[in-house]
Order: sequence, then C-alpha cells, then structure tokens
Amino acid sequence: MADVEIVVVGAGAVGLAIAAELAGAGHEVLVLEQEAWAGQHASSRNSEVIHAGIYYPPGSLKAAACRRGRDLLYTWCAEHQVAHRAVGKLLVAVTADEVPALRRLQAGAAGNGVVLEYLDARQLQAREPAVRGVAAMHSPLTGIIDSHGLLQSFEAQVQQGGGAVQLQTRVEQVERKGQTFQLVGQSAGQAFALSCRWLINSAGIFAQQLAQSVKGLPAASIPRVYWCQGRYFAYQGQSPFSQLIYPMPETNTAGLGVHATLDLAGQLRFGPDVRYLDQLDYQVDEQCRSDFARAIQRYWPDCQPERLTPAYAGVRAKLSGPGEPVADFQLQDGRALGLPGLISLYGIESPGLTASLALAERVRELVQGQSLS
Ligand SMILES: Cc1cc2nc3c(=O)[nH]c(=O)nc-3n(C[C@H](O)[C@H](O)[C@H](O)COP(=O)(O)OP(=O)(O)OC[C@H]3O[C@@H](n4cnc5c(N)ncnc54)[C@H](O)[C@@H]3O)c2cc1C
Repeated sequence: MADVEIVVVGAGAVGLAIAAELAGAGHEVLVLEQEAWAGQHASSRNSEVIHAGIYYPPGSLKAAACRRGRDLLYTWCAEHQVAHRAVGKLLVAVTADEVPALRRLQAGAAGNGVVLEYLDARQLQAREPAVRGVAAMHSPLTGIIDSHGLLQSFEAQVQQGGGAVQLQTRVEQVERKGQTFQLVGQSAGQAFALSCRWLINSAGIFAQQLAQSVKGLPAASIPRVYWCQGRYFAYQGQSPFSQLIYPMPETNTAGLGVHATLDLAGQLRFGPDVRYLDQLDYQVDEQCRSDFARAIQRYWPDCQPERLTPAYAGVRAKLSGPGEPVADFQLQDGRALGLPGLISLYGIESPGLTASLALAERVRELVQGQSLS
C-alpha cells in the first residue's frame, strides 16, 4: 500500500492544474513544492497572456493543448471568479517585407482553428493610432489573466477534492519498489520519506533534474533542457494601446518578440526578450533598456526610453537550443520506460499557462488508463 495515491511534484500552474483535475475526479492527491509559496518560478514570471493558439505547428501537442486549454481556461475563470479579460491582440508587420510572414502566420493559425482578421495600414491606424505598421492581424481570442488568482483557484480545488499542497518540500530521490514509488527529500529542514502509486513530474525548469534522481529511468529518455531567460520592463505612464501589441516572432519562434502587454490594472509592460542561460538568473539588467527601447520603437515610435523600468524576469524550460527548430511539449508515460505510474512533463514553456488545464486533462486520461490521442 502506498501512503498516497498520487504525488505531483511542483506547485506551478501546470502541477496545480493537474492536481485540481485529479482531485476533482476523486483521486487522492498530494502536491510537493520545494519553495515557500506556489508558482514562484515560471508561473509567476510570465506575460499572463491567454494565447489563442496562433504560432504552434498544427498537429503538435502545443497547438492542441493551447487551443483546448484556452477554451477550458476561459470557462474555468468564469466559473471560479478568476480575473481575466479577452482584450485581443494585434500582430504587426512593421515593414512590407514582413507581410508574407504575417500571412503565413494567418494560414498556420487557421490550421489550428484560429481565425485572424487582416488589417491594412489604414485599418491598423484607425484601431491603434500609436502603432506604426503596414499591416496587422487581429486575434480576438487572446486575453490576459491574473495568474496568481488562477493558482489560488487551482489550490482551492485541490483542497476541496480532499488533496493538499505541501510547501518547502523538496523531492531528492525516487526509487520504484514493487507497485509504488518511494520518495525521499527535505521538508522544512527535516528529512522525509513517502510512497505513492503515481508520480507526476511537473517540476518546470527542474523536471530534468528530478528525472535524473529517479532510479532506473533511462538517461536517454530525459530530453536536454535549455534555460532561456525572458526579461520585462514596465512603462511609466498611460498605455496608448487598448489591446496587446506583438511584433513578428523571433526566428524559430524562440520568443514571440518584445511585445506590449497590459495587466488587469492597465499597467503597460514590455517583454520578454530571449537570453539563453548557463545558470538560473532572475535579474533584469538596466543596461538592456536601450535594446528594449529599440525593439519597441520599431512599432511604437513614441516610446520614451527613460520611462522603461526593469520589472522582472522568467526562465523558459526549452527543449531546443539557440538556433534550433522549436520543440514541442513532451508528456512522457513511464509505462514505455519500465516505470508504470511515472508521468513526466518536459519543455513546458509558453503557452504552458494557457495549456495548463488541457495538459491536466491528458494526465488524468493517462492515470485513468485512457488513450493519449
Ligand atoms: C518569460 C515567460 C513568459 C511566458 N508567457 C506566457 C504567457 O503569456 N502565456 C502562457 O500561456 N504561458 C507563458 N509562459 C509559460 C508559462 O509561464 C509556463 O509554461 C508555466 O508557468 C509552467 O508551469 P509549470 O507548473 O510547468 O512550471 P513552474 O511554474 O516553474 O513550476 C514548477 C515548480 O516545481 C517546483 N519544483 C521543482 N523541482 C522540485 C522538487 N524536486 N521538489 C519539489 N518541488 C520542485 C518548483 O519550485 C516550481 O514551483 C511564459 C514563460 C516564461 C518564462
């Protein structure tokens, strides 16, 4: 007998969504989180955008989970009183040579069931007078969300279903014994040991580290992670935009370009950039203000660099290195690796917040023995 039926490692948006889904379906769930509060890593350090599903290759897990997750998330927010708003987004071609890529994104989005409205320069000017561009696509399904409120609503659902979230509890070693996984680690400075039937590795940028501590998990099954920082600057002053403004994405969609986002209080901020890291770093260096200003002024010429102040940074869990083609999310079923009951999530970068409830649904289907398709 295991102490607990299911342990989820990681109380980020994805781990908590999984725990909420499983607890809601009547499973016994315990979430273990190494930090003092939930969502301290990627889940509180992002753009807080509900993505429509524009950029991801049709047929990929990212595309499917984004589309399904977006719909589930809007419904969840309405039912659980999580603050959000479908403000919409403009994807802007600043110069004529960017228009073919804009059209390609429109076609790709259509393949994902996302309809984008084409605006010429005059229509763009009428919608967002402060933006400079020769054309744009309007995405009405894109929105913003209070990510902290979302995490709290997931946590409440876990507790309502009889589950719990244990903070300051770090899993350090995992070993399969019989039908259970034996976990050992540190909880608030004390050693602990615990057994479970199912182990869900939802440890974000640390998922590979946790996987390496699972005895018997083949090293070749653990995809390499690249930590990729994204920094944000807040803009002091009134936002000239009524919606989110995105330039064309980076090559290989390593990032979506330094875009303008609004939070629910109307604060304008810009980011994230793309910077591969050797070690974890959440600092925002003032020195990169001029790079930000240059990127922003391409589509907003009136941006005043002195009004940009360093805000925060997040770190993406990428499965592709600099210059490599974009990689998909990986949801790995331990059955194929001789470790039934282990489910690992790798490379849950953007749009992981949007996709959280869809990934949770997939994990529940695996746990309940249904097909993955
Ligand atoms: C800069 C940036 C911008 C983004 N913008 C968006 C956006 O606008 N929209 C969107 O949909 N997505 C966005 N994303 C992606 C989204 O934020 C992530 O996909 C999502 O937050 C990942 O959630 P998670 O639960 O997998 O990871 P995390 O939130 O990182 O949670 C993992 C947790 O596991 C814990 N943990 C790790 N190892 C252990 C261990 N051994 N024992 C116990 N606990 C452990 C960690 O402490 C952490 O709290 C963005 C990401 C970044 C970095």
